[in-house]
Amino acid sequence: MKLFTPKMRDFDKLGRSDPYPMHKLKRVERPTTRIDDEQVQRVDERESGFNRAGRGDFGPNLKKEYFRFVNKHPLSSALLNMGFSLRKQVDGKVADKIAPLPDNPLQMTTHIKETAYFLRADMVGICELPPYAVYSWGAWHGGEKIEIDHKYAIAILIDQDSRTEEAYNGHDWISNSMSFMSYTASGFIACILADYIRQLGYPARAHHALNYGVVLPPILLWAGLGEMCRIGDIVLNPFLGTRFKAAVVTTDLPLTPDKPIDFGLQDFCNTCKKCARECPSGAISHGDKVVHNNYEKWPNDVEKCTTMRVGNQQGASCGSCIKACPWSKPYTPFHRTINWTMRHIPLMRRFGIWGDDLMGYGKPDYKRKWWLDLEDVDGELRVPPSQNKEEI
Ligand code: SF4
Ligand code: SF4
Repeated sequence: MKLFTPKMRDFDKLGRSDPYPMHKLKRVERPTTRIDDEQVQRVDERESGFNRAGRGDFGPNLKKEYFRFVNKHPLSSALLNMGFSLRKQVDGKVADKIAPLPDNPLQMTTHIKETAYFLRADMVGICELPPYAVYSWGAWHGGEKIEIDHKYAIAILIDQDSRTEEAYNGHDWISNSMSFMSYTASGFIACILADYIRQLGYPARAHHALNYGVVLPPILLWAGLGEMCRIGDIVLNPFLGTRFKAAVVTTDLPLTPDKPIDFGLQDFCNTCKKCARECPSGAISHGDKVVHNNYEKWPNDVEKCTTMRVGNQQGASCGSCIKACPWSKPYTPFHRTINWTMRHIPLMRRFGIWGDDLMGYGKPDYKRKWWLDLEDVDGELRVPPSQNKEEI
């Protein structure tokens, strides 16, 4: 079977270009932060900050807020409801016979990536599934043991929307909806992609925010979608910053993995520290990297971050570190030129960080606000008192 195989997602003959030219990035053999593959322990999802908040580890107030912090705004609540309905779609019957497919894994890899782009993914990367990326226990259904031995992971990124990012202050009433729009959209794509692969005759399981069986950072690193950043257990993409959420499909369909990327972020984060400066809870470190569970990363105070996101009384959740980051810029020729300079000329990085502040990036542009500030209080939607005088 002959398939159209684009050499790269770049300019076509109509002059359309890919907003995220991942094929132009420097590829390396290993992620730019150390991972001792043989030593990393699998993670128990029940010990995540959100789940600890839900069981009361951070006090009774946060435990109470945990059960309403997404539902308290009607848009994030609607997105959460859709996410719940996707939980039933993550796995299913595999076709009895394998379909007649190209026998070249590279061709199938291109086809699977193009299918994900057709389904409206913003970026796609593929890696071999590291065994330590599979949760030991999942948090749903009161806790369930997880065993997944698929060979490959397909990671799908969805942008949280740059126009909304420009308008919000990082922790107001749209913050949770930005997260859950990306969680739900990436989950929707992953569920369809996994079903398609099963219909082709190979096992495949989708993993999304309400049904993850895998931990995202190692998959995103090995799939070449970003580097570890100062915010903590977070992978930063060179074109979206951290303004994205991801879903994953694990499968045995033979594929060709991508390689990790190096765009100079370790050097950049060493100097920048804007996220640490702007974090309202002080959860992000101003200091050096540490080794935790045999990963090299910047430490993040999970209790402080969770308390801010779950307990925020002046909005719904928090993404101030996303808003502050110089890498989360819209796709314009100007920003793309700066992006190229930051990736290729280390000496210019200090000027880039200084210029980002000088241009006033990271401040909310309330003229562009489109959402409604609403809060569910005891089943009734009310307008919360505005905390932003400039906004009134
Ligand atoms: Fe800080 Fe908010 Fe980012 Fe958490 S989400 S690290 S509280 S800025
Ligand atoms: Fe790194 Fe600066 Fe972004 Fe923080 S704001 S993640 S230090 S580039």
